[in-house]
Order: sequence, then C-alpha cells, then structure tokens
Amino acid sequence: MKKVSFYTLGCKVNQYDTEAMIEIFEKNNYEVVENNEKADVYVINTCTVTNLGDRKSRQFIRRSRKNNPKAVIVVVGCYAQIASEEVMAIEGVNLVLGTNERSRIVELVESINEYDKINYVDNIMDVKEFEELEIDKVKGKTRAFLKIQEGCNQFCSYCIIPYARGPIRSRKPENIIAEVNRLSENGFKEIVLTGIHIASYGKDLKEASLLDIIKDVHKVEGIERIRLSSVEPTLLTYDFIKEIKALPKFCPHLHISLQSGCDETLKRMNRKYSTEEYRKIVENLRREIPDIAITTDIIVGFPGETDGEFECTYNFIKEMAFSQIHVFKYSPRKGTPAAKFENQIRGDIKSIRSEKMIKLGNELMNSYMNKFIDKKLNVLFEDYYDKKKSTIEGLTTNYIRVVAEGKEDFIGRIIKTKMREIKNDIMFGEIIDE
Ligand code: SF4
Repeated sequence: MKKVSFYTLGCKVNQYDTEAMIEIFEKNNYEVVENNEKADVYVINTCTVTNLGDRKSRQFIRRSRKNNPKAVIVVVGCYAQIASEEVMAIEGVNLVLGTNERSRIVELVESINEYDKINYVDNIMDVKEFEELEIDKVKGKTRAFLKIQEGCNQFCSYCIIPYARGPIRSRKPENIIAEVNRLSENGFKEIVLTGIHIASYGKDLKEASLLDIIKDVHKVEGIERIRLSSVEPTLLTYDFIKEIKALPKFCPHLHISLQSGCDETLKRMNRKYSTEEYRKIVENLRREIPDIAITTDIIVGFPGETDGEFECTYNFIKEMAFSQIHVFKYSPRKGTPAAKFENQIRGDIKSIRSEKMIKLGNELMNSYMNKFIDKKLNVLFEDYYDKKKSTIEGLTTNYIRVVAEGKEDFIGRIIKTKMREIKNDIMFGEIIDE
C-alpha cells in the first residue's frame, strides 16, 4: 500500500480541502501517515494570508524531501496559487496545483515521478464552477465543517484571498445535502457551514440562497446543530434573523466579521458597512435571540489607524459586548492595495494595541460566560481535555467551551451539563444528565 502524508496550514476551508483530498487518496488505496514518517507522496496545503504561511510551507517542503528523496512532493492551496513560479523554484517540488483541480490530485500524482516538475496552476479568475470535493467523515471529530462556497468578490484592501481563491462559486444544493446525509449517517451531530465568503452563497445560482441551504440542512435527521462560519454583517437583514430564529437547530451564535469599529478605518479597508449598520444588526439579533453569542475578528494597526481611530474601535467593541474576539495585528500582504498605503503603523504600536484589545476581549468573554453560571446547557463533547484526569471538553450551542469530568463514551454526544465556575478563562461544568 502506498503512503501519503499531509501538512495543512491556514483556515477551516483549507482543512476541509485537505480532508477531501485525504478521502480521494484513501479511495485509491493509499494509507495516510503522520508528516514525520516516510511517505511516497507529501501534500502541502498552503496558506498565504501572512508571509509566515509562505515560510512554513517552504520549510515543510524541504523537510518532506529529506524524509524521502524518492517521494513525489505536491504543493496546493493559496500560496501555490498566488506564487506558483516561486513554489516551482523550490528544490524538491514536483507538482504545483493551487486552489483548483484538487479533485484530480491522485491521477496527476500517479502520472509523474520524483524528477518531474509540473505547474498545473490556472488563472483562478477564469474559474466559474465550484470544484466538487467531498467528505464523509472528519478524522477524530464530532463537528463537521462543510464547505458550501468558494471565492470572494469583495476585495477588502488588506486581503489577498480574492486573488488566491478567485470569484464566488456556490456548491450545488443537492451535493451539499447529500454530504450532510452522509455525515449524519457517520454520527456527526453538528454541521458548520463554511466557505471563503458564505454571505454570497447562491448569488451565482438561480435556485438557492444561504437561507434555503440552512433550512434544507435543518430537515436532515440526526443533525442536531447548525452553525455558520464567519459572516458579513450585511447578510443579517431583519427577515434573515426572523427566519433563523424559527429554526431550533440553528445555534444561537454568529461570528460577524467587524475588522474595525471606526468608520474611517472601515472605508480604507474597503469594507461595505458602517458601524451604525453593524450596531443595528446586533441590536436586532439581541432583541430576537436574547443571549445569542456574537463573536468577531478585529485588525489592529491598519495603515493610518490613529490613536483616536483605535480608541473608537476599542469603545465600539466594548459597547457591542462580544462574547469572543479574535485580534490580528495588521501585516502588509504583498499584492494588496493596503500594503502600499502610506502611514504604515510601527510594530511596537501594533503590539500595544493588540494587547489592549486582547485584554478587553478576555474581559468581555468572562462577563458573557458569567451569565450562564449555575445554568444547565447542552454540551456536544468533542474530545478529552485531560485524559489522565478523565476530563472532556465540548461546546454549548452558544459557543462556550466547557470542560467536565466524563467518560470516553460521552465524546460525540450532546449532554446536559451544569455550568459551575470559570477558571483561567475556561468554563468548568458538571455533567448532570447522561
Ligand atoms: S470579505 Fe474581505 S476579508 Fe473576507 S475573504 Fe473577502 S476580501 Fe478577504
């Protein structure tokens, strides 16, 4: 049996693409091995959101070549798409695939040897169809991230993704539902609908919208929870909110991308909403779905961000009372407009702003979690927290990570758990109903 090894960088969409490629190799009788082992094929699924991703990808290519000088080395993903010539020039690379044609990976790998060098990257801007990649399972997981959409047409000024992933393409509804059925048969209880820009799902199709997909997934027996990965605020019209509110399987949690809480910064970022619109959406959500968890992403140190603009963002985040924020220090990405903007912010200022924002995020998270102390919530346990101490961890519907004492056979089940105390930003609970 031939062996293949994967190394994946980057986001959930990349992880989904890797899972799908693993299944293609397995269907063709390959054994998947750890990436420090000797394999016949090494696949590096790269990310290019930061320059660090590029560097890590190059390191892993070199390490793989050392593990087995006769292996076929394949580089796929966003970095390969953006800089295919640069990747081709790395010693040891045999095949470069980018963000399309991954469904043919085994066929292409088997047509080459360790001396070939083939660049298979096309102009992604010309790709109009969603590339069908399927998963039936996700190794060791109980929540499945399911890709429904590819590409982005937004062109935020700091982001390289539209150039790496190309224009929006929606997956056909029947293929999504077939995959949800297979995941349900394989014991998955929670589906997280994901994509590069899921708010644009359906814009290139006539027959379906994101809401239609959510409703169709809702009908699938065995699926008990539906979540969305990051969404743009503009998706959340009052009608959309009313509709999701009526769906009991839809988790009371939304990750609504904000990036900045200052209108001037948002304009420079080429984001398509104002803080006033964002505020209205959050108010509507909280009115309709009290206690909903709202999480977000923030970039600090964007070019031209003055002390006043940062202060404005800080105050807006405090006002929005997010239950979690992911803070990113702006890092210029070659090939994007913002990388050429004047008034780039110094690294030490970015670090101070980032620390301040992370501290605020932790305070807000603790204050959100505090509201649930002594409440009984359903937790989908996903894994051991500490095997030696027999503690397991999982998520509530409103995205609180909970640790509790529990047996191995609780993993993969939804169990009523009483929220007991918060220690070091972690909620500890007690399983009360098996
Ligand atoms: S919406 Fe903006 S940040 Fe998100 S992928 Fe598209 S361009 Fe990048």
